[in-house]
Amino acid sequence: MTFENSLHVAQQLDQADPLRPFRDRFLIPQAEGKDLIYFCGNSLGLQPKTAREALGRELTVWQHLAVEGWFMRPDHSEDTPWLSVHKRCKEPLAQIVGANPSEVVPMNNLTVNMHLMLTSFYQPAGQRTKILTIGGDFPSDQYALETHITSRGLNPDQVLVEVFPREGEYTWRMADILHAIDEHRDTLALVLMSGLHYYTGQVFDMAAIAQKAHEVGVPVGFDLAHAIGNVPLQLHDWQVDFAFWCSYKYLNSGPGGVSGVFVHEKHHQANLPRLAGWWGYDEEHRFDMTKGFVPMAGADGWQLSTPTVLAMAVHHAALQITAEAGMEALRRKSEQLTAFLEFVLRDSGYPLAIITPATPAERGCQLSLLVQRDGKALFNRLVEQGIIGDWREPDCIRLAPTPLYNTYEEAWRVGQVLRNFLA
Ligand SMILES: *Cc1c(COP(=O)(O)O)cnc(C)c1O
Repeated sequence: MTFENSLHVAQQLDQADPLRPFRDRFLIPQAEGKDLIYFCGNSLGLQPKTAREALGRELTVWQHLAVEGWFMRPDHSEDTPWLSVHKRCKEPLAQIVGANPSEVVPMNNLTVNMHLMLTSFYQPAGQRTKILTIGGDFPSDQYALETHITSRGLNPDQVLVEVFPREGEYTWRMADILHAIDEHRDTLALVLMSGLHYYTGQVFDMAAIAQKAHEVGVPVGFDLAHAIGNVPLQLHDWQVDFAFWCSYKYLNSGPGGVSGVFVHEKHHQANLPRLAGWWGYDEEHRFDMTKGFVPMAGADGWQLSTPTVLAMAVHHAALQITAEAGMEALRRKSEQLTAFLEFVLRDSGYPLAIITPATPAERGCQLSLLVQRDGKALFNRLVEQGIIGDWREPDCIRLAPTPLYNTYEEAWRVGQVLRNFLA
């Protein structure tokens, strides 16, 4: 793609953008009566205008029906009663991650789900005890792995195989990851890592990693916190064994919104070990309250607890927007919008290194900039100018132009701020 660094061109790109109407589905935060330029969807996505109404509907059911809300809806409502509130989300979630509805379920929060999936898919036996992951993954994932391994009576130092970028590089080489899986083929029990790295914005070739893991006979799982709603996924076809995510980043489901898991169909009959609760119990007989756990079929059988109905209502409203836009169209815009932002950043002449891979196939919408001069001051200037990104000590600014609500004109304005700050 070749671009031109002008407001006119940016506005032309916006006019030609088929997803442009979607911006109007969101509440854009403002300062002094002007829309902020919000490039922080990688941390907390914006509020869909439908969220308040969705939440209000459930508050009304609670008000009028109280406990009956579990089993019925007000006469005019077509939604499912709370008892099966999670079912509303399955179809759009399945579409977004490339799965069958039976393979996904919304529940809990991300780190909780990571532990639940580890319980089911990490089965150390004999020589095979190791977990291969990437070094420097999100802290919660590191803590979860460390403590999960300890809880099994094993030593994380001996169990974890961490693959790092090479000396002097910021991103991983796929060949190094695949090679490490090969190298530890006799001692591995699991491959588990982020599908899209939170700091660099690098997307991994999940299909290739899954294929290699299966070649050496181990299951593979991905943390999709930064991938879901950002890049197209085909979890079912890629034969990924399991995955989990959060919904408050690119899925716009609100702070601490409901997480979810994917469990591939091939595991549905296996009766894998799990930490169970009554909500995963065969729903026909859940209220028989009998002894002995009988799981629901599919991913639903991993549910533990009474669903968070209010959070789920917002989640559903948000999911419908992403599903309606469709991941293919979102990706098409995302590649171009991110490329445009990259172009104006470079064209500004500001001394910075973009550590996010330059190849579209290896990144989502986020660009991570290592600012080589006055990083914090530049970040503060961006904030003064109404541009919201995020800052990581000592020198990193992450900007995520998200295709659902960001525009080319906004990207152009970021470049202008850099240019003016340099001058
Ligand atoms: C955002 C994020 C989390 C957050 O986990 P919670 O349990 O939702 O607090 C975990 N892992 C990764 C990779 C993330 O990007």
